[in-house]
Amino acid sequence: MQQFQQYIDGDFSDGTAQFESKDPATGRPWAMMPEARAADVNRAVEAADRAFFDPEWAHMTATQRGKLLARLADLIAENAPRLAELETRDTGKIIRETSAQISYVADYYRYYAGLADKIEGAFLPIDKPDMQAWLRREPIGVVAAIVPWNSQLFLSAVKIGPALAAGCTVVLKASEEGPAPMLEFARIFDQAGFPKGVLNVITGFGPECGAVLTSHPKVSHVAFTGGAETARNIVRSTAGNLASTSLELGGKSPFIVFDDADLDSAVNAQISGIFAATGQSCVAGSRLVVQNAIKDEFLARLKQRAEKVVIGPPQEMATEVGPLCTLGQRDRALALIERSLAKGARLVTGGYIPQGDGYFFPPTILDCTDAPDAPCVTNEFFAPVLSVISFDTEAEALAIANDTQFGLASGLFTRDLTRAHRMMRGIRAGIVWVNTYRAVSPIAPFGGFGLSGHGREGGVEAALEYTTTKAVWLRTSDEPIPDPFVMR
Ligand code: NAD
Repeated sequence: MQQFQQYIDGDFSDGTAQFESKDPATGRPWAMMPEARAADVNRAVEAADRAFFDPEWAHMTATQRGKLLARLADLIAENAPRLAELETRDTGKIIRETSAQISYVADYYRYYAGLADKIEGAFLPIDKPDMQAWLRREPIGVVAAIVPWNSQLFLSAVKIGPALAAGCTVVLKASEEGPAPMLEFARIFDQAGFPKGVLNVITGFGPECGAVLTSHPKVSHVAFTGGAETARNIVRSTAGNLASTSLELGGKSPFIVFDDADLDSAVNAQISGIFAATGQSCVAGSRLVVQNAIKDEFLARLKQRAEKVVIGPPQEMATEVGPLCTLGQRDRALALIERSLAKGARLVTGGYIPQGDGYFFPPTILDCTDAPDAPCVTNEFFAPVLSVISFDTEAEALAIANDTQFGLASGLFTRDLTRAHRMMRGIRAGIVWVNTYRAVSPIAPFGGFGLSGHGREGGVEAALEYTTTKAVWLRTSDEPIPDPFVMR
């Protein structure tokens, strides 16, 4: 069994406890992970707090911080194959996706490397004579960054990159499911030349490790990606330290197809929209909202492609859908499908557990035309399961798209330009993709409405989330300040 270590204050160590990590493709343990308990978490936060105030980091120029981030980006690019292999092994995410994503992760760090010395303050046109005033933008403090198991290297880059660019220090809690790529990332980070304690990487379970971290008095901001229920616990944990939060949560994103759409493109985009990452993606286009005139044809094409998807070991380049990350995920998906069928949803394809080892689950489509209230229409699966609803008019399409408590992403396929503009304005979601799906970039903000959370990752906006402002006043007059209690 391979052995991994946590990274605190520039040192690698075993956790207070250890736990087994299972290979999702076989269901068998393959590595021992360090489990951070309260003592480890406290040590990590203390280290981050010391580093935050240490002049080596606190007085480092923003340009120099950017150079260190650029060096980190280069190291990630050099080590991308190893990181991809580990992420695939520990989470089951297929190798063709981890390889492509990790190369792009380096670009996220490069983007924030370039942004570090462009986070500007302001000179204020203050309304008082003999006075000047500035607004300084300062790092917010120690950041607790918490990520789920899917795409951890990516989801941590959109936190660590802007946080370090802004001058914060970070304690990153990797998910207890598949933490290997993050613990390996710590070894790469260690070579980049940052002062010790600037980044600390631990892993452990929510109730102890996560709760101690988010409620720690020295934590100023919690950057979280995960589920809404966990987000509620985190908000409760921050009632004591009053840390600010950015919450990137789940979704039940509509993928809307009008009858004038380029159907070949729409089919391919919907297939990748729901089945990429084996459906374990916050932006999965998991609710197909399709116009009645083309519903049968569109569903037939989807079914045909879904049944040709190559399911197999995540390490093989030919594999298109791998295992789910955990057995619990698979049991939950199956239970949700059964409850939906009982409510009148119709199984178009999939919905069974394949023979053999591992947590595999086939691409599944449920037609919910006669069951618009079935649980599969409202609940996030986080599995390769698509629910289908149909409409006649544009107004119906918009109402169905917005009939959700989530609001992370949305897709829209139409050739009608004016309709596209009306729809993109009406949709309540943080991202609208028109005639495309899943496009992401370090340059574009990413985040949600409603139960999909608040705050944005990506773009300039994200770096500002890790800053706070300070107003500085300077009196320019040489005249003595008069005694305030002497009447004139
Ligand atoms: P989760 O909420 O169960 O766990 C996420 C992380 O929170 C883990 O590291 C976990 O240990 C930690 N955690 C659990 N309880 C905690 C507590 N009390 N205090 C602090 N930390 C705690 O999520 P998951 O099931 O691992 O991941 C799937 C969820 O993440 C889905 O809902 C998915 O949509 C969402 N997600 C969102 C985005 C996005 O960018 N919006 C991206 C990926 C995943």
